[in-house]
Amino acid sequence: MHSKLPDINSVNELIKLINSSERIVITCHKSPDGDAIGSSLGLAITLEAIGKEARVVTPDRPPRSLRSLPGIKSVVAYTQHPELAERLFADADLIFCLDFNSLNRVDRMRDLLEKAPAKKVLIDHHRDPEDFADVMFSFPEQSSTSVLLYRLLIMMGLSERIGDKAATCIYTGMMTDTGNFSFNSNDPDLYLIIADLLKRGVDKDSIYKRVMNTKSASVLKLHSFAIAEKMHVFPQLQTALIVLTAEELKRFDYQPGDDEGLVNQPLAIEGIVYSVYLRQDTHQIKVSTRSVGDFRADLICNRFYNGGGHVNAAGGELHCSLEEAIEVFNSTKPTIELFLTDSPKTAE
Ligand code: 5GP
Ligand code: MN
Repeated sequence: MHSKLPDINSVNELIKLINSSERIVITCHKSPDGDAIGSSLGLAITLEAIGKEARVVTPDRPPRSLRSLPGIKSVVAYTQHPELAERLFADADLIFCLDFNSLNRVDRMRDLLEKAPAKKVLIDHHRDPEDFADVMFSFPEQSSTSVLLYRLLIMMGLSERIGDKAATCIYTGMMTDTGNFSFNSNDPDLYLIIADLLKRGVDKDSIYKRVMNTKSASVLKLHSFAIAEKMHVFPQLQTALIVLTAEELKRFDYQPGDDEGLVNQPLAIEGIVYSVYLRQDTHQIKVSTRSVGDFRADLICNRFYNGGGHVNAAGGELHCSLEEAIEVFNSTKPTIELFLTDSPKTAE
């Protein structure tokens, strides 16, 4: 299953499924990021180009930074339009599950997705997917779901149908899931794909500006406050921790997505290889972690934070007080130490 490229039999099966479907729903994980939304819209726009009705239904609203993506206005967020989302799931004859590997990741839409009678196709790059889809394209070695989708569309013979709008969405996912091509981005083929997307009309400089540089002043202030006042550095552990309370978030008029990229910032400190960010939400503590090299952030999230993810980018959630969440972080310290000695390359 985890070979480098999808095998031709599964691709043919996918072509048959698409050909025999009229009403297609595309869904992705909660708190959707550039890759989740980019791949979903890239697929929707391409399917529409071949005459299919395709709607993107997300568990909650896409962040502000993605507001300029083509097709973003047609996205149905379950939190905003639950009845429409329910109808689309119930009526669909094919459902694509993009950029997630477990049913929990669609949050309150889990029931809808499980009960929907349509066949389900998973296209994703997270490790160890749950077995909930009829056809699975699970390729953890791909740096983004968007680049995996691009490869699949090409294999399906849809190259002619990838126009500038779909290409823009795909490029956005490739860019955001690699930190603007600063990690997981050594595969030379990525740059051949980027060249192809540019030829299709992608304006990469403008995408960067619209996704990265359209923040409000309060977002910048929130990031600066978090680094200046709320970051704890543990040099012995080569680790940094940022903790933000609900009150602090409110003070900076926090909107979902405003803290995008915050957890990456401590990795800019020389020697830091692991960064943890705890955010106090209304009903939970959201945990976000990043690491460098072989340091397995995903294993720590899996064991301590009810989550998982990729080796270098993982997350989870805790249902406890912020103080208790900090205790959980403290209890991970021996594991952090162990991982540092196990993977000396990361400690260079
Ligand atoms: P972020 O820190 O940006 O929220 O998430 C980074 C990565 O961690 C995501 O791409 C996803 O793979 C994983 N992740 C984040 N939150 C969760 C979670 O609650 N559960 C699981 N299983 N994975 C998560
Ligand atoms: Mn992704």
